[in-house]
Amino acid sequence: MGRYDYYKPGDWNAICEVCGQKYKASKLKKRWDGILVCDKDWEPRHPQDFVRGVKDVQSTPFTRAEVADSFVTGSGCSPCGQQGIVGIGIVGCMIVGLDNLSAQDRAVCTEV
Ligand SMILES: [Zn+2]
Repeated sequence: MGRYDYYKPGDWNAICEVCGQKYKASKLKKRWDGILVCDKDWEPRHPQDFVRGVKDVQSTPFTRAEVADSFVTGSGCSPCGQQGIVGIGIVGCMIVGLDNLSAQDRAVCTEV
């Protein structure tokens, strides 16, 4: 005959799932992990169980697409050298069919 082997209306004997001792069912409490335990085996859930990691955002606040490279070609083609006129235009600079010099500019270009 155990300590809890007596009649109590509406109650029954139950076993603590941790220590295995017999108790009245009304003395057992449900623990955070869902098992029924006696008073001395009941414990709250540890606060560290609720710790969550902080998201580590490593990207920069904003970004931009890289601008296309622009190079200074330094072709050295002057307006005179670009003219498609034999004797004025320079080989490598001439634009075929270009002839937009005024008579005054043409005189300047042929001075050299
Ligand atoms: Zn117990």
